[in-house]
Amino acid sequence: MPDTPLRLFNSLTRELETFTPIHPGEARVYTCGPTVYNYPHIGNMRAYVFADLLGRTLSWKGYKLTHVINITDVGHLTDDADAGEDKLEKAARANAQSIWDIARHYTEAFRADVKALNIREPAHWPIATDYIEPMIAFARSIEAKHCYRLDSGLYFDTSTVPDYGRLARAQTEAGEGRIEAVAGKRHAADFAIWRTTPPGETRQMEWDSPWGRGAPGWHLECSVMSGKLLGLPFDIHTGGIDHREIHHPNEIAQNQAFCGCGSLTNPVNSGARIWMHNNFLVDRTGKMSKSSGEFLRLQLLIDKGYHPLAYRLMCLQAHYRSELEFSREGLGAALTRLKRMVIAVEALKRRHVDAGSAAIAPRGEWTLESLTAHPAWEDRLLRPHLEAFAEAVADDLTSPKALLSLESVLHAKALNSAAPSVRLAAVAAMDQVLGLGLLDLSRADLRLRPVSATIAETEIEAALARRKEARAARDFAAADAIRDELAAQGVEVMDGDPLGWEWRLG
Ligand code: AMP
Ligand code: ZN
Repeated sequence: MPDTPLRLFNSLTRELETFTPIHPGEARVYTCGPTVYNYPHIGNMRAYVFADLLGRTLSWKGYKLTHVINITDVGHLTDDADAGEDKLEKAARANAQSIWDIARHYTEAFRADVKALNIREPAHWPIATDYIEPMIAFARSIEAKHCYRLDSGLYFDTSTVPDYGRLARAQTEAGEGRIEAVAGKRHAADFAIWRTTPPGETRQMEWDSPWGRGAPGWHLECSVMSGKLLGLPFDIHTGGIDHREIHHPNEIAQNQAFCGCGSLTNPVNSGARIWMHNNFLVDRTGKMSKSSGEFLRLQLLIDKGYHPLAYRLMCLQAHYRSELEFSREGLGAALTRLKRMVIAVEALKRRHVDAGSAAIAPRGEWTLESLTAHPAWEDRLLRPHLEAFAEAVADDLTSPKALLSLESVLHAKALNSAAPSVRLAAVAAMDQVLGLGLLDLSRADLRLRPVSATIAETEIEAALARRKEARAARDFAAADAIRDELAAQGVEVMDGDPLGWEWRLG
């Protein structure tokens, strides 16, 4: 049971496949990173929570993980048809700022979100503009057989590789023009490898190349950075499901050209053995769009009083291949669920200390192997939950089920006879995969004050203390008056709350 092989859904074959590493004992993973022209929205962050869950699972299964997340600071156009403008050039102009400052600012903002969501740092954060020379070298090596020139740049001829578009299950060109053509393109799906700056124009980001001064295409970046840092072919390539349609088919075509044009009936010829895609976070209020003023970024949720890890939990509550609908109610429910878990961990920690055990709860880099060597694994009552957890994770990262096993270990009354130290070890091992930080969080950490709150926490606590005194003196009128005063300031008093919260900001 514990050595159930890891099965992952490969978008290229549309099948569940057993993970077999290319280099024994290792897992090399590339994740398409953000385009740093604006803050990431929470939908973008779902893609990195998913990639983190994958990375944590590979580590827990004992593989030595090398994870790469790139930063796209050039090349991503506002339009998939190579006809739009570079997103960063546009943002820099709109803000009258240097493109480099824009890229630096939003890269930092992205990395802050990564940290807040407990996403582990990858081994490498390559920045596209640091790889211009190898991109030119890559393009030169495939130019003669696979590319052609137009005034606007160097284009990839998609008819020169076998199985173009298999990942997207794309319509043939005869079926419908999949992507609007730039004048002169041989096929609608052909794409820019290098975009030459039009005469008379200058871009803030441009470089000399054999095809004139200009900038690389977005797809080229990922082929080059993944190949340089992980070696082609590597194990797993991830991204959001939108990338399954254009960006990744184009990366695959370039990789095939670079590596000798093998057919995609053998997925490894695509450059990666497995291609994985997270489904979208959808928001029916329309606030996810970066063009709307107050768009849904993580900081907005934090400002409204939601702990960022409640958002992580919300993501884990859905399988990564399912669409997930965002709502404030859903997020609130996830926060309550997280609070329950944290309260249960705190109670276990107290019992652990009372039992005279060392005050420090078990920590460390847990793996499935170290868990199976721990007394927790031998505990007759705990064992079925741990096995169910291991099984859920190995089954294409089924986090919703894994969470249920974790909660059984935390909440099941039948487990009260198990030693708290053993239960805490089990929780720590499971949280190594889920990354909720359960052993480090406290109840107080989870109570974030909305920025709009005007009343100070000390005032609330003082009013509640006065109310307690009034109630003790059976002066219920005074107690009710204090409650009403607090309500007028947006503070809801929570008598008899099952989680033991005394108040919340409404
Ligand atoms: P971008 O910065 O636009 O390149 O996107 C960064 C990542 O977020 C990519 O992997 C996208 O596929 C992914 N993504 C974009 N929108 C969503 C969404 N609503 N839900 C989940 N992932 C998304
Ligand atoms: Zn990419």
